[in-house]
Amino acid sequence: MPQCKYGDETTRATAKDRTIRRHNKKQCICYDVHQPSSRQDDAKPATPIVEGVVATSGSDANTDTYTISSDRAWGYNDFCEFIRSKGQDPDKVSFRWGSTSTPSGLFFNKINDVKPLPEAVTEASFTAENLPGLYAAAEASTPKPKHSSNKRATVIVWADPQIGKTGRRGGTKELIERSTAIRDRLDQHLAGKDLQRILFADAGDGIEGFESGGNPMFTNDLSLAQQLDTYGTEMFKFINLAHYHAPVTVAGIPSNHAAWRCGKQNLGRPADDLGLLMHTQVEYRTADRGMDVQWVRPATYDESVAVDLIGTRIGLVHGNQFGPGQAVAWWEKQTFGAQASATADVLVHGHYHTFSANVAGRNPHTDRQRWCLGAPTLDNGSDWFRTVAGRDSDPGLLVFDVTDEGFDLASLTIISA
Ligand SMILES: [Zn+2]
Ligand SMILES: [Zn+2]
Repeated sequence: MPQCKYGDETTRATAKDRTIRRHNKKQCICYDVHQPSSRQDDAKPATPIVEGVVATSGSDANTDTYTISSDRAWGYNDFCEFIRSKGQDPDKVSFRWGSTSTPSGLFFNKINDVKPLPEAVTEASFTAENLPGLYAAAEASTPKPKHSSNKRATVIVWADPQIGKTGRRGGTKELIERSTAIRDRLDQHLAGKDLQRILFADAGDGIEGFESGGNPMFTNDLSLAQQLDTYGTEMFKFINLAHYHAPVTVAGIPSNHAAWRCGKQNLGRPADDLGLLMHTQVEYRTADRGMDVQWVRPATYDESVAVDLIGTRIGLVHGNQFGPGQAVAWWEKQTFGAQASATADVLVHGHYHTFSANVAGRNPHTDRQRWCLGAPTLDNGSDWFRTVAGRDSDPGLLVFDVTDEGFDLASLTIISA
């Protein structure tokens, strides 16, 4: 059956489209069907139709519909006023409205399907029900650590766990076992160090996500929501352990696997990263448990961050911003752009799933040699990286100290399971 090119009320035709349809015989196949009000041979009195769709959100039952008679046709503002009189905020509901005249000169003002707009995702939406792992982990928070004035601080670089992915090292079960073993060794490593502070640097790709190419439906063993909960839980457990030893600063940055994206296309701003969303969720937990934890993340449109750690600046960036082996070249350019990492003494990155260390000139502000450190991975194996670069180092956690003399090379170690 041919369709009217202007659609009908059910196909979201605009009021203007419908008016054209009703007045133009040549353009409208349903001209005769719809009985336009302006036709001279119309036997009925004129029945001008004033209508407009403000918003629609499906056609659920349990929605409010009203017809109000009046001596005039209502406009949009009248309907908003009416909604207010019913105790609802017109900005927070969707509704359809229209007016029809009657032969007696009265108008029927109709408002249909008044219903609340879908709630935006807010922090309140993240409850124990949808982040069960994180909430359970937060119950076992460590007590506030003692403060020390010892001139030593430790940096823990947590990079690329890509939670949810299965690879040659296994799936989520193996990742959690490995993570737990690494935390035990980290605990021993930190014991007796008398640290002034610990920086937990999350170098990104905390989750595998579903938009990174290949077919993640077959290579992931967790849904996106499960990945986020497990990521938050693992992050909390590392921070919680560190907090047993010293006050903690947590730094996070956006990354390619955790970005809000559709295929290769990033959506939103760098700050809309799902990993950073989980940083906010874990921050709520460390705050409501009264823990001594500070949180640092980049400015909304920045992708790197720098943290002052007892006088040494640690820069953090994921690594997808530069090609393999190009970290130092990228860092040099940051200096001219005056980005967060421009003044760093040590730049730390992930993304390349393999440990690397390079000297990178001298910091004119401190006259100290600068270091650029690539972190090994914590994931289940990256066939992508093995294919591209031919190597994929053993999984491990990069840990090093800074003292009042700056980066302490002798302290650098990789803790593996
Ligand atoms: Zn990665
Ligand atoms: Zn990456």
